[in-house]
Amino acid sequence: MRPFRMGRILGVDVIGDMSLIALGVMLSWVIYLELRLPESAASPTEALIGATVGGLLFLGTVLAHEVSHTAAAQRRGIAVKQIRLMIFGGASELEDGEMSPQTELAVAIVGPITSAVLGGVLLAASSGLSGVAALEGALRFVGIANLVLAAFNLMPGLPLDGGRVLRAILWRRTGSRDRATGIALKVGRFAGLALVGTGAFLVLNTGAALGIWVILVGWFLMRMAAASARTHRLEAATRGRSVGQLMRPISESVPGSMSISDAIDMYQMGPRLRTLVVSVDDRIVGILGQLEVDRVDASVRSTTTVASAMTRIGPADVVDVNMTLIEALQREAGAARHIVATSEGRVVGLIGHAEIAELLEFEDPNS
Ligand SMILES: [Zn+2]
Repeated sequence: MRPFRMGRILGVDVIGDMSLIALGVMLSWVIYLELRLPESAASPTEALIGATVGGLLFLGTVLAHEVSHTAAAQRRGIAVKQIRLMIFGGASELEDGEMSPQTELAVAIVGPITSAVLGGVLLAASSGLSGVAALEGALRFVGIANLVLAAFNLMPGLPLDGGRVLRAILWRRTGSRDRATGIALKVGRFAGLALVGTGAFLVLNTGAALGIWVILVGWFLMRMAAASARTHRLEAATRGRSVGQLMRPISESVPGSMSISDAIDMYQMGPRLRTLVVSVDDRIVGILGQLEVDRVDASVRSTTTVASAMTRIGPADVVDVNMTLIEALQREAGAARHIVATSEGRVVGLIGHAEIAELLEFEDPNS
C-alpha cells in the first residue's frame, strides 16, 4: 500500500493511500448493487452513474473532513505537514510546536463535526431527489457513510480524532501531554481490539459480511495505535538529546587498505569485534564489525582488505555530533543502519544496534 500524492490544498500536500481507494470502490459497489435491486427504478447505466458519483462524492467528503482539521489548525497558527487520506478518513499531520489542550481539542473535534454535518445535508438532499433513483441512492449512501465516519472517528483512542479529544482532556487534567498520549494510545489499541471482537461476533452470529469489514478496520486501528506508540516512545526517548549523548565514542577510523587480520589484532578487545568506522583518503566509506568479518573465511583474512569486506555507508549515515538525535534517526538511512558521528570531519563516535536498542528500552519518566 504505497501512498501517493493526490494534490495540494491550503498549501499542504494531500497524500492518498490504497485503503482509501478500496473503501471508495467498495462503497460504489454497494451503491450499484442497491440500485440494481428489483424495487429500484434505476437502469443499469443509471446505477453505474450513481455508483461512480457516489464513490467520488465519498472521496470528496473524506477530503473535506481532513481539510477542516487543516484549516482549524492553520487558523490557530499550527503548521500542517501533510494531509493523509486513508481508510479512517485520514490524518492531518500537525507540527506540535504551539499546541495546547484547547487547540488540540478544537482541531480534533472539527473533523467529526464536518462529517456529521455533511452526512445530514446529504441525507436531506437525497430525500429531496426522490424522483431521480440513481442520485438519491448515491447521496443516501454517502450520507450514511459520513455519519458512520463521524461516529467511528469519535472513538476515544489515538490515532482517531476521539483519541485526540481524549488526549486534550487528559492533558488539561494531568498537565502532561506525554502521559495523556500514553493513555490515549492504550485506549486506541483497546478500541481496535474491541472492534475486532465485535466483528468476529457479527460474523459468527449473523454471518454478516459487515463483520469482516469491522474486523479489518479494528485490526488497522490496532496497528496504527502500535505504530504511533513506537513513534511517541522514540520522541520521548530522544527529546533534548544530541547524537553525541547516545553514541559510543570512537577516537579514530581504520584505513580501508589495512588487512582484516591486522584490524582484528589492533582493535579487537573482547570475544567480538566492535564495529569500526572505515575511511579511505580521509573519507568515511563504511563500517566493519563482527558480522562483516564472519563473512570472510579465516584463511584469507590476512590478504583481504578492510575496504573489500566492509558494509558501505552513504553520506546520509555520517552526521555532525551536535545534530539532534531525532533528526539523525529520521534521516534517510542507508543500508548500514549505523550512524557515524563526526566533529570537524573527524570520526568521534558511532550509533549502532546496541545504542538504538538502549534507546528503545528507555522508559519515558512521564508515562
Ligand atoms: Zn479526523
